[in-house]
Amino acid sequence: MFGYHGRFLEVDLTRRQTRDLPLTEDFCRKFVGGATMAAALVNDRVAPGLDPLGPDNPLVMATGPFTASPLPMVSRYAVGAVSPLTGFWGEATSGGVFPFRLKGSGWDGLIVTGRADRPVYLYLKDGVAEIRDAQAFWGLDSYAVQDALKADTGDAEASVAAIGPAGEKLIKYACIMNDAGRAAGRCGLGAVMGSKNLKAVAASGRKRPPSADPGRVAELAKEAVSLISGHLVSLALKEYGTNMYMDMGMVLADTPARYFTGSVFPAQALTGQAFRKKYRITNYACRGCPIGCGREVNEFKPGLKVDGPEYETVAAFGPLVGNTDLDLIVEANHRCNVHGVDTVSAGVSIAYAFYLFEKGGLTRDQVGFDLGWGNGPAALKLLDLVLNQEGIGVLVSQGTLAMAKALGRDEGEAAQVKGLEFPMHDVRSFHGQALSYATGPRGACHLKGDYYNIDLGNMVIEYMILPGDRLVSEGKGEPAAKYQSYKDLFDALTLCKFAPLEPTRVAAMLGALTGWAVTPEELLAMGDRSVTLKRMLSAKFGVNRSLDRLPAICARALEEGATAGITPDLDRMLDEYYAYRGWDPATGLPTQAKLAELGLTAGTPS
Ligand code: SF4
Repeated sequence: MFGYHGRFLEVDLTRRQTRDLPLTEDFCRKFVGGATMAAALVNDRVAPGLDPLGPDNPLVMATGPFTASPLPMVSRYAVGAVSPLTGFWGEATSGGVFPFRLKGSGWDGLIVTGRADRPVYLYLKDGVAEIRDAQAFWGLDSYAVQDALKADTGDAEASVAAIGPAGEKLIKYACIMNDAGRAAGRCGLGAVMGSKNLKAVAASGRKRPPSADPGRVAELAKEAVSLISGHLVSLALKEYGTNMYMDMGMVLADTPARYFTGSVFPAQALTGQAFRKKYRITNYACRGCPIGCGREVNEFKPGLKVDGPEYETVAAFGPLVGNTDLDLIVEANHRCNVHGVDTVSAGVSIAYAFYLFEKGGLTRDQVGFDLGWGNGPAALKLLDLVLNQEGIGVLVSQGTLAMAKALGRDEGEAAQVKGLEFPMHDVRSFHGQALSYATGPRGACHLKGDYYNIDLGNMVIEYMILPGDRLVSEGKGEPAAKYQSYKDLFDALTLCKFAPLEPTRVAAMLGALTGWAVTPEELLAMGDRSVTLKRMLSAKFGVNRSLDRLPAICARALEEGATAGITPDLDRMLDEYYAYRGWDPATGLPTQAKLAELGLTAGTPS
């Protein structure tokens, strides 16, 4: 087989055993790799009633056919499991060097089950896997543990993906950190690692599978680098990182303010330019990326260089709580990274506490201090309570839906879909995005179908996904579904979402790596299959149309800004969406005919 090793590593931590799981070429072509292959493997191993933090929840780390190839922007990997935050399928991806090393270790990925009786870490190198004791490393923060394990392996080339204290404490939105500040952020998969007493995975080695046509791969890689490097968005990402979007986001009312109740705020204080004016910022890249969207704030404090923050974090700890203090945002981001929590779910949950405080749903007695809009230090104090699992922080660490339920509030106040907190794109501003959030395979997600980018002009002509009026819902169902499928496939191949590559080119890349004759149509079918598979998986745990909803707090028309008085017509778009997908409009679940068409028989994908 080309492009794949054709094997996963299966690790049973309870029995401390490892063995190879061979993959057939049919399985690889059907489920591609990354998050899609992870979903296929998890789907085969879980049943209703599963405890996401119990030993039976399989945790998968997966590379794809693109990973560690000469193509640019492909050093990425996916993590998947049933999410402890949502109770449904959960996935997250990250870049850096770790994915390149993971593939170099000699497996396409690993699947971890059981629970070790004491802390362990995995060391994978050149086809040899070891389960090593990690008692001495338990409690280390997510940066310190990466350094400590590199030293412990004595392997200068090893790259480490690890949990920080938040994962050990089973915080529901704990993440997995690698290569210093890169994060597989969403869905609380760090807590799944923590529940297994698995502190980290260290990967190393040079075992990379051959390509079917190395000459063609090299040609395509060269063309792609040139295309990516000259793209306007790439240039902006290189200069300012993802936070290049902040002022445009405010103008378009796409960046939410004051817990989704506003859209107007002093954006100029928070832009990428403002950060560059205040700090000495340098950028860094995932292996093989010509852009380098990663940010580092040098000398944040004497002798301290810190990562980030990205746009999502700036918005979540900025306008969402009414704060404009840059130092505070950088500090909050750093603390989240050190402890290992998702800055989106953390920031949104903290902002919900601010909203509740204003409405009388939380009192000074319950919190211990005041939470007024713009009180940045209070946001930081509340974050510390979350990270240290103290006082009201214990509740805020459960996410917005659990907070609403525990406090007896209307669940429409919880800014989430299926338990996953809203990212920093406002659904009133881009109606296609509203549909993507409502139907996202892991809950509210701006990366699976970043439809705001389409209505900003980034079309996919081959699939007739074209820009339209961002404030119109009619007609968005089909293109948003197609775009969701196409972007879902990026996490299977493993290709960075910022790669401006059209389907014909991506299909050619997959063909040159694997030897398969892949058409753009097959590519789209692969994405459709992936989204449908994840839907089936989550359906085991109760997902159906009734949960494809937007919370009232995020969908109610605002009184200010560019979207004042406007709200998306979700039901109209949902009907169009289900029709395209071949899902039953009454239940929102795939029909038998659609499952057969995609080669998915109910419950048994492989
Ligand atoms: S654009 Fe950013 S996230 Fe994507 S590959 Fe490059 S450095 Fe990594």
